[in-house]
Amino acid sequence: MMTARGDDAGPAPEGAGGRRGEEPAPPFEMIVVGSVNADLVIRVDRRPMPGETVIGSDLATYPGGKGANQAVAAARLGARVALLGRVGSDGNGEFLRKALSGDGVDLDRLTDTPGPSGVAVITVGADGDNSIIVSPGVNARLSEDDIAAAADLLASARVVSLQLESPLATVVAAARTAARVVFNLSPPAAVPDELLAVCDPLVVNEHEAALLLGGPGEPEQQARALLALGPRSAVLTLGADGAVVAEPGTVTAVPSPRVEAVDTTGAGDAFTGALAWRLARGDGLADATAFAVRVGAASVRAPGAQSSYPYPEDLEGL
Ligand code: ATP
Repeated sequence: MMTARGDDAGPAPEGAGGRRGEEPAPPFEMIVVGSVNADLVIRVDRRPMPGETVIGSDLATYPGGKGANQAVAAARLGARVALLGRVGSDGNGEFLRKALSGDGVDLDRLTDTPGPSGVAVITVGADGDNSIIVSPGVNARLSEDDIAAAADLLASARVVSLQLESPLATVVAAARTAARVVFNLSPPAAVPDELLAVCDPLVVNEHEAALLLGGPGEPEQQARALLALGPRSAVLTLGADGAVVAEPGTVTAVPSPRVEAVDTTGAGDAFTGALAWRLARGDGLADATAFAVRVGAASVRAPGAQSSYPYPEDLEGL
């Protein structure tokens, strides 16, 4: 069955409890396990060919990293969210910690680690599209031991949100402890069936889907094919065209609001952080996606990743 859905997800249910007479709320609605990077951004009219030099804009440094981005996106919307990750002993580490803390992300499980913080070197083209090189730095040291040490905390959250800028073994270990896994398979890589099987949902963009499925295709078909890889559900994001949700027996197209795209950096992370939070609040997947496309669209209207992420009032009119 194929259904279409608008962008009005309606009010979130009271998900995490905390009202009188109910079970006490868990400390966090969601926990993000993942990367924290400094994004070094230069805007260019066009990208250099191999061997060529082009002149770009002044360098801008923003807080980023897929894990941190997801956590900040959710926190700005009102989530009680913790981030499990590592920052380095350099100036970027301090900068990144401060930014996360300012956004209200719980950092008790963010470990200062000797070595360089993760860095992403990003060029933004005239069309707002980006190209990115990531240097993982101490993100590569996020370990299975870190997950074991936080196992009770991870199991207590309704949703654990994962991406692949952390070592695969660490991601798999985190997935094993989680009640519900939201997994953004980005950057794309081969992952074990065990990990795919617990994703609810698996989230990928069109490029990642094409790599996973062996080629491009029509979105609803691609979403169905993603589901056939074994996750409990799948969400295919389509940039300005929104997203497609595949659940057993149902495929739902979710259009994105029309906005003027200035910089799409981190749109997928904003989308996934918002999606994970709404699932943690008790939304169904299609409703959570209808909310998340609004957050993703809001995020492309301003430069940077976290710097562009919306507060609830920024979603009005979208
Ligand atoms: P990125 O790598 O740039 O962070 P992504 O490729 O992982 O993003 P996209 O599919 O490009 O993910 O975007 C995620 C969501 O953000 C989309 O589903 C959509 O809701 C929103 N979005 C992205 N680009 C646009 C746009 N140009 N106009 C409106 N919404 C957009």
